[in-house]
Amino acid sequence: MSLHYAQIRRYDVANGEGIRTSVFVTGCTLHCVDCFNVLYQDPHYGTEWSEETTARVIGYLRDPNVAGLTLLGGEPMQSPGLVPVVEEIRRSLPEGKTIWVYSGYTYEQIVADPERRRLLELCDILVDGRFVARLKDLRLRFRGSSNQRIIAIRPSLAAGTPILYDPA
Ligand code: SF4
Repeated sequence: MSLHYAQIRRYDVANGEGIRTSVFVTGCTLHCVDCFNVLYQDPHYGTEWSEETTARVIGYLRDPNVAGLTLLGGEPMQSPGLVPVVEEIRRSLPEGKTIWVYSGYTYEQIVADPERRRLLELCDILVDGRFVARLKDLRLRFRGSSNQRIIAIRPSLAAGTPILYDPA
């Protein structure tokens, strides 16, 4: 199935460290009770991804004010078409810039699945787990509920256990 996205924000300060370009892909079967946007669960919702879209995002990431890319959904870990796109973006990502990914799956669920793990390995920071309204805490940065974790991906893969990341 082709990759679709609902929106691309060139400058986003809510979803990760610094000013980031964020991409909301569509398609998700997790059906969280508190889903923030049920429209995004439909994998056909939004605009079909194209080569031009990849080039546009790469252009945004060259902006010296932009700290990196953030991938959100929908569910990025259910979008197989996202892997080659992120591979291409990764190849041209300016040094020092990072890729964050938000997922309703936990770190443990992602590393146990080869397809999901492929996308994980292309990223630097994972915000994991579903949003749970009863655990909502407005003091949390870059995540909505206290069950969600901000995880440094490379150190975690090297250690074989999730290692939390403390954003600046
Ligand atoms: S993971 Fe996100 S898009 Fe999917 S059902 Fe949960 S809140 Fe909605």
